[in-house]
Amino acid sequence: MRLVFLGAPGAGKGTQAQRLAAQEQIPHISTGEILRESVTRGTPLGLQAKGYMDSGKLVPDEVVIGLVREKLTSPECARGYILDGFPRTVAQAEALDRILTETGSPGLDHVISFDVPQEEIVRRLSGRRSCSRCQTVYHIEHDPPKHEGVCDKCGGRLVQRADDKPETVLARLRVFDQQTRPLVEYYQKRGLLQRVDATGSIDQVYARLLAVVHATRMA
Ligand code: AMP
Repeated sequence: MRLVFLGAPGAGKGTQAQRLAAQEQIPHISTGEILRESVTRGTPLGLQAKGYMDSGKLVPDEVVIGLVREKLTSPECARGYILDGFPRTVAQAEALDRILTETGSPGLDHVISFDVPQEEIVRRLSGRRSCSRCQTVYHIEHDPPKHEGVCDKCGGRLVQRADDKPETVLARLRVFDQQTRPLVEYYQKRGLLQRVDATGSIDQVYARLLAVVHATRMA
């Protein structure tokens, strides 16, 4: 299964991707996660990306395309993958098409757009916390940890992402509208787009996602 998850920041792509990837036993490739890890480790990629990420801007296409190319051509992706947060621009989508052609891939199965109204997104992002050790994501109201500030899974400290602060959230939403939303039409035209209502609980959204993935698998 080769999937792309599209949606505004805070739409729940990462949470849903983590769950589906575990169930299907395929890699979950989150470009945001790879970049954050590189920033934490202070690698050349991280140093290059940090300024863009802190201000809510996109990291330059060529940087992100290079890292996705490397992932998709690795043997662990042979059985499929979920791309979460990539592509985010039309240039990235075109590069992905080229990578798929060059590697002789049969192409994407679906591009899933997770749809959530903007007010809900702002609420979700302001309450989002993630584990500084294992990256598990929580929400202080909707999906809180058992003990405040501590990860249920590994005991790590929960932190707010630097780019989830209110001033950066608005910049990220603007970037999404201007640069990423056009991809809905890009994939609709190619007959790959599936829409999932991403409001409600994590379980409700997951059930809708499975319905889409399974319905088309049986078709
Ligand atoms: P995310 O975790 O997907 O919300 O990504 C966090 C940040 O990483 C974004 O605001 C961008 O600065 C950067 N980023 C992640 N994926 C991409 C991408 N495909 N293209 C450019 N920048 C990206």
